[in-house]
Amino acid sequence: MIDDGSHADKIKSAIDELVQIALQIGAGIIDVVAISTSDISIDDDLANMCREPVCAFYGLSANCPPYVASPAKFRHMLEIYRYALAIKIDVPTGWLNTDDRLVVMKLLHELVADIERAAIELGYTNSKAFAAGSCKEIFCNKHSRCRLLTDNGECRHPKYARPAIEAYGVNVHDLNTTTGWFKDQNSKEATVDKASIGAIYGLVLIG
Ligand code: SF4
Repeated sequence: MIDDGSHADKIKSAIDELVQIALQIGAGIIDVVAISTSDISIDDDLANMCREPVCAFYGLSANCPPYVASPAKFRHMLEIYRYALAIKIDVPTGWLNTDDRLVVMKLLHELVADIERAAIELGYTNSKAFAAGSCKEIFCNKHSRCRLLTDNGECRHPKYARPAIEAYGVNVHDLNTTTGWFKDQNSKEATVDKASIGAIYGLVLIG
């Protein structure tokens, strides 16, 4: 289809609507920014960090390497989509090294999956969500094996478990720049100890 002005306006207003829906789903917990998929940087070295040093969940989930698309394939996938919603939850950095992070990562998986569903309901039926963390650790820690990888079984948590965003090498430093989140952080009052606040990230490709 020729992308004339009115078609572009229609897409823009649908993406704006999706941002508003995502913000409602996030209920004040998440930041959401619509970005062009051409602004998403994929870094092979970041994806390699799942293998070297090897992550405790490498190879244990269908949503982690080596079972997910390589960075090269993900780059190709991004060319098929035009827009994405970048999603962020601010987290005290102290949590990131404790089991508390699992609570917030589970919440992130649930929120991006709900946003993906909202996009599908709006007619973007190929929308796909990704979120920080391995679903093996977040959802299936009490099980020895990922059911999707064994006996041709089904995922135990298809409603919410989504692929680990880090597995594809998504550069969240660049994402922070693209979305303007770095600028927001830098403009915060000097009284806020910026080093004490970290973040985890999700992405929903809209298509
Ligand atoms: S069964 Fe589903 S939630 Fe559990 S590890 Fe496998 S893919 Fe993840």
